[in-house]
This record gives sequence, C-alpha cells and structure tokens, in this order.
Amino acid sequence: MRRIVLVAFVVSSALWLEGQTFSKEVQPFVKVSAPTLALTHVRVIDGTGALARDDQTIILSGGKIASLGDATQVATPENAQVLDLKGYSVIPGLVGMHDHMFYPVGRGIYGEMAYSFPRLYLAGGVTTVRTTGALEAYTDLELKKAIDAAAMPGPKMHVTGPYLEGKGSWALQMHQLTGPQDATRMVNYWLDEGVDNFKIYNFITADEMSAAIAAAHKRGAKVTGHLCSVGFRGAAALGIDDLEHGLLVDTEFFPRKKSGDCPEPEPTDMAFLAGLDVNSGPVHDMILDLVQKHVAVTSTLSVFELFVPGRPVLQPRMLEALSTDARNALLANKVRSEDAARIRQRYQSDNSPWGPAFRKEMEFERAFVKAGGQLLAGEDPTGMGGVLAGFGDQREVELLVEAGFTPLEAIHIATANGAQFLGEADRIGTIAPGKQADLVVIKGDPSRKIEDIENVETVFKDGVGYDSAKLIESVRGRVGEE
Ligand SMILES: [Zn+2]
Repeated sequence: MRRIVLVAFVVSSALWLEGQTFSKEVQPFVKVSAPTLALTHVRVIDGTGALARDDQTIILSGGKIASLGDATQVATPENAQVLDLKGYSVIPGLVGMHDHMFYPVGRGIYGEMAYSFPRLYLAGGVTTVRTTGALEAYTDLELKKAIDAAAMPGPKMHVTGPYLEGKGSWALQMHQLTGPQDATRMVNYWLDEGVDNFKIYNFITADEMSAAIAAAHKRGAKVTGHLCSVGFRGAAALGIDDLEHGLLVDTEFFPRKKSGDCPEPEPTDMAFLAGLDVNSGPVHDMILDLVQKHVAVTSTLSVFELFVPGRPVLQPRMLEALSTDARNALLANKVRSEDAARIRQRYQSDNSPWGPAFRKEMEFERAFVKAGGQLLAGEDPTGMGGVLAGFGDQREVELLVEAGFTPLEAIHIATANGAQFLGEADRIGTIAPGKQADLVVIKGDPSRKIEDIENVETVFKDGVGYDSAKLIESVRGRVGEE
C-alpha cells in the first residue's frame, strides 16, 4: 500500500512540475502537485463535528475541493493523479489561533523563528495561523508575503499587530502605550502596514483598551487579549472579540484585585483558581456574559501543561528540533519546576497547585462550550520553551480530548471554529466541495484515537501536498536559533 502511494506521489509531482514552478526553497517539500487529484479510499473527518466517513474519494482541482463522496460513487476524472489512501484519514488543515512566530530565548526575550516555525506549522498540519501578538511585526508581514508568493514554505497567516500593552510591562520588546490616543494611533498605523487583527496585553488601561477596540472595529479588525489589569467581564463590556488562555489568566475573582490594576502574581493564585466553581456563581455568570456578548475564548492547554509536574512526555521529535542550547534550557527549566524542595518552599505543600489548576481550566473550557461559547484552539509557543510550532497544535487537540471533548468535537474546535472566527468559514475549516483544498493526511484514525493526529504524512495547502517529514528534518536543531 505504502509503496503504491509513494509511486503515485513521485509520478504526480514530476508531471506537475513541468507546468508549475516552485521556488527552490519550496520545491524540495512538494510531494504531490497536479491540476487534478483524486484521494481515494480515505476516511474523511470533515471538521463539522459529523461522524467520520470511511472509504471516501475526494477530488481536488485547481487548489480546491471539487467533489467528495463514497469511493464507489465518485468518479475519478481521467486526467487525475490518484492517491490510494486506504488506512489514512484526512482532516481540514488546523487553524492555529495562538500561533506565534517567536520562541523564548531567555531573560524574558523572544526570538523570531522565521526559518523554522513556518515549516513546523505546515509540517504539523497547521495551514492557517493567527500570530496573536507580534514582537517583530514587519518580519511577520514579510513572512506572510513570502509564503503567499510560494517563496517560502509555511501556513497562511493572519498577522496580528504588535502587542497593545500598557505602562509597567515586564516585556522589553513591547511598546508601552501612553494613553488612548496612542492606542488609536498604533492601531491605525499597523492596519495601514497590513496587519488584520490585534492583541491586548496585561497592563493596558481600560481607556486604552476601549480606544484600541473602537479603532480596530471601525476598520473591521478583531481584537483579542491576554488580560490582567482588566477582567474578562470588563473586557467583554468594552467590546473585545476573544480572550486568550481562559480562566487561569482571569484576575477578576482575586479578592485583592483593585479596579484597573494587574495584581502581582502570588504562589497561592493557582490554588485559588483551582478552587473556583465553574458551574454556578460568579464564574458561571462570567461565562454566560461572554456567550451573550459573543466573546470567544482561545484554549492554550499545551502551554499550561508544561507547568504541571510529570507532564507532558517530552517527545524525541520535539527535542530533536531544538538547538542544543534551547534543549538544555528547556530540560533545566523542566527539572527545576518539578524540584520537590522548590515546590514545598514556594507552595507550602508537597504538591504543585498546577495539576488541579490545569484540570480546572479544562473544566472551564467545557462549561464555556456547554453554555454555547465559541472555543478556539492555539498552542502558544512560549512558557518554558516546551511548545513548538505544529507539534504544540497537535498536542492542543489531544488535550481538548483529555478535557472531555470527543475527538470529533476537538477537531471541530481546532479547525472550523477558528475559520469561523476569522471570517473564513466559506473557504477553509471544513472539508466540503468548493472549499480550498487545505487538508491533512494522517496515518490512522484520529476520530477513534486522537494521538494519531501526530502521524501527519502530507499536508495539502491550496491543493499542493507538502511532505511533513521533510519539513521537520529541514529544521532539525534549528529551533531556538532561527
Ligand atoms: Zn502567547
């Protein structure tokens, strides 16, 4: 079987390359490309949440999905290249909604991974990203241009503007706003430069937030936030569109919170959050408020998981992608965060509160969806450096399943919901005739066993199939450096 597929890939790319040119940066990763393609005998998980359908044929033509149905019913066009995908599943390309192009390089500084991350996102099956905060906005904008022109391999990008941050920030790479006029100025400047959305950060004032949201909305751009000075309900009242990370960053329930202040973190915070009830009382009221005001929440379980002792299992493929320095830093951070003496000293307990807090975040996300909320999925490649482009997005989907969503629901959250939020649901996010052919070919069946989502072999973006393993191999030892 496998041999047949490989032969088909070779033949099809050879034929197609006669008529189609890819840059020398992209060409080595193109595994399959033909004007018309038939993916036959494949299991289709269409991203709508509908049951998986076995033994389907998908016809791709001109970069789009032309037709789709039972393999016995859909005729394969005469000129089509045929890929027999028995034993494989296809899901829509993932829509990564907290997918930065940067990675922590130490001392609170983040380095742009302009070479490695676009490749890893695509390799991991992420065909669209929202960058959700830029530290090098011009690099992100140039990356987008290069990828769209097929001069570089990578996902489609929704570039977020530089963080809208207030006075008092710990983050050296962020501009600190001087007031509402500065917020309006910054939003308009970056919209002129080509970004299409914004992210608010910890120390912004309510007045600056209000001005930024008004300026963005006036020009059709959405605003998300990783909040601290303003609580979720406060931001919802000001018209924010999305909230990053969920309950574990909402300060509004802390007794010490003063209006407009970002409270200093305290060791007891995670235990406090873990003790909140999400199904009744103030947190549930907050959930209902978000749902009523159509405010989305972006789940980033993969970055939180790093703080939970004993988790996750660090994968060899991820460690191999890291530079020696980055790998050493990650392993040292992880060991330090799990040190028993340090945990006892910090939390006055033998157990880190991160385990219960992590479970509470999962409960919150389930309660939010149950109440009718729009949950998005991202990875956030920050924290202690254990979340990498693409791999982290796959882990995020697995963690949504651990949180209690079915695999079909988790895939729906990580594909269709993001597409809908971005206003692109008519083009991407689900598998249906007329949509762009952004598809992930996976060995196995993630509708039954979600871990199969790691077995990505080919990623189609606008009908061109990229070789996942080759993309990953091309950045071996590079993450943390470039
Ligand atoms: Zn982030």
